[in-house]
Amino acid sequence: MEALPDISSLARVDEDWLLKLWEGLGYYNRARNLKKAAIIIMEKYDGKFPTNYEDILSLPGIGEYTASAISSICFSKKEVTVDGNVMRIFTRFWNDNSNISKDSTRKMIRRKLQEVIPDDAGSFNEGLMELGEVICLPNGIPKCSICPLRDACLSFQNKNYFMFPVKDDLKEKEEVDITVIIPVWNGKTVVRKRKSSGLLHNLYEFPNVEGSLGIKEVRKYGAEYGVVCDIKPSIRYTHVFTHKKWKMRAYIVFLESVSCPNLFSSIATIEEKYALPTVFSPFLYQVKEELT
Ligand code: SF4
Repeated sequence: MEALPDISSLARVDEDWLLKLWEGLGYYNRARNLKKAAIIIMEKYDGKFPTNYEDILSLPGIGEYTASAISSICFSKKEVTVDGNVMRIFTRFWNDNSNISKDSTRKMIRRKLQEVIPDDAGSFNEGLMELGEVICLPNGIPKCSICPLRDACLSFQNKNYFMFPVKDDLKEKEEVDITVIIPVWNGKTVVRKRKSSGLLHNLYEFPNVEGSLGIKEVRKYGAEYGVVCDIKPSIRYTHVFTHKKWKMRAYIVFLESVSCPNLFSSIATIEEKYALPTVFSPFLYQVKEELT
């Protein structure tokens, strides 16, 4: 909020700086979409955030849930918010065994709630969010004894809340071995920009390759930066993304001379300028310890 206090500054921000500000929060496309939405608001809505559900929904990064939440809570529009919490509450409430992994179930619940939503839709939606978060709990036992919906809830009457919601089993995450090679020379190290598409695109990273490399291969990669004098195995770290798991092993490669000094930056410069996603933070911490 300090760096980008209004929509126009967000619309004009340089992407590298935006990603640096977002560093560590994950889901970097959210930051990119915020900027895209800000540009549209400046160009199409004269810099004023739209108040209508359909206009809000048309903005990048805003789906039905967020559009309903914004339009009901901020602009008092009668739009119901339906997320996993709300689907859990109402499949229990109605003893409905529709599969909540299907879009048709979400639409059905939205349609039914849209018929009964009160004028104060914002409070209604916030109430449902709160109910799902603190009372009609997901994996544990719901706190039916203090639930305001208890008297009308079929799951409470039938004592079968554990049968709902019905959903698809989660898929196993794909595991990928990654070897991180951290060249160190003259108190500095190397980060590079990732590709402009795919996972973590346009963010920065320590040099790395797919696969689990041994010291000999690491030495070969290290030699691309200069003359290797020592290699120190660093930490192992597993990072879990939404659909993938990176099993990472890092090596700090000490160089006595380098072929391209411009590639090397101090830790202070990296921390100040480059957006390094959380997946590489443990290695930054390690190399920082090593250099100070
Ligand atoms: S009574 Fe129990 S199962 Fe029914 S909505 Fe409330 S917390 Fe959920």
